[in-house]
Amino acid sequence: MQTVIIGAGAMGCLFGGLLSEAGMPVVLLDVWRAHVQALTRNGLSVEWRGKTRTIAVQATTRAAGLEAADLVIIFVKSGHTAEAARTAAELCAEGGLVLTLQNGLGNADILARIVGDERVVAGTTAQGATLLGPGRIRHAGRGPTVIGMWRGGNFQKALQVADWLNSAGIPTEAVEDIRPVIWNKLMVNVGINAITALTGIRNGQLLDLPQTRALSRAAVEEAAAVARACGVAVAEDAVQRVFAVARATAENRSSMGQDIDARRMTEIEMINGAVVRRAAELGMAVPVNQTLTALVETLQAHYPS
Ligand code: NAD
Repeated sequence: MQTVIIGAGAMGCLFGGLLSEAGMPVVLLDVWRAHVQALTRNGLSVEWRGKTRTIAVQATTRAAGLEAADLVIIFVKSGHTAEAARTAAELCAEGGLVLTLQNGLGNADILARIVGDERVVAGTTAQGATLLGPGRIRHAGRGPTVIGMWRGGNFQKALQVADWLNSAGIPTEAVEDIRPVIWNKLMVNVGINAITALTGIRNGQLLDLPQTRALSRAAVEEAAAVARACGVAVAEDAVQRVFAVARATAENRSSMGQDIDARRMTEIEMINGAVVRRAAELGMAVPVNQTLTALVETLQAHYPS
């Protein structure tokens, strides 16, 4: 399965590195020239539990001239999804698929609009990675990846993609209905990311005060109500699951927190913002998610230069 990964940051490098290490034909495509040069010259350096290994990878900044891909994996941040989708449309072979494992809700819809409904495979991953510098990542955690066809399409194809990832040592399951999986992960991001990003706290500190817990609970309960109104069965104990994740990742700063700290654009639009959009379509009020979205959008629009 000839594969191109668009967005070779932390996660793109992790998946691209593991696939390359297993001998699969993979090209990493990224717009960051110094990073691509480092990958090409020195290989990908992967730190895992204190040990570092180097994996030879193929990387480029140019889509033109690449072989048609059976699978394109999108690992850009959500603000760049539309641009990546246009590149994916050019690169995809006939019958080829486009997989997104990005966080949030809405990336798969953008892809479907640009590359066609039947091509899009969406999912979540509990793998984690951190970019340490050009050509260097830390594999931060292992966990399951779950995928499925986003809007129908041929389920056999999702199974093939799962086989492909499994054979590279990335444990992956294909499911018939991926929507609850994506919504359940969204709940975690809805309950943790914006609050920690705005306040500067670590994930575990979300649980310290009753008022912070109440804020998180309100955001998650609003999102769960929207999911159910969309016909998606989210977990009954969604709030407790979010608190359990905050406890298990107590020392971590959320990805949105890291984006705010580094004055980068966040993925708010596809997290709390996605809840606000779906709620508006349904005529539902989600004031907590609306407020969190507006605050993060205001903050990221006014970074000091
Ligand atoms: P990242 O910022 O490390 O990497 C994104 C890369 O995309 C960058 O290298 C950037 O140069 C590149 N890029 C931007 N526009 C591009 C374009 N048009 N064409 C090609 N490359 C382009 O981000 P990340 O942490 O790897 O996250 C990627 C996605 O995966 C996000 O949606 C994130 O929420 C999700 N995710 C991340 C983790 C994690 O542990 N990091 C875990 C699960 C899911």
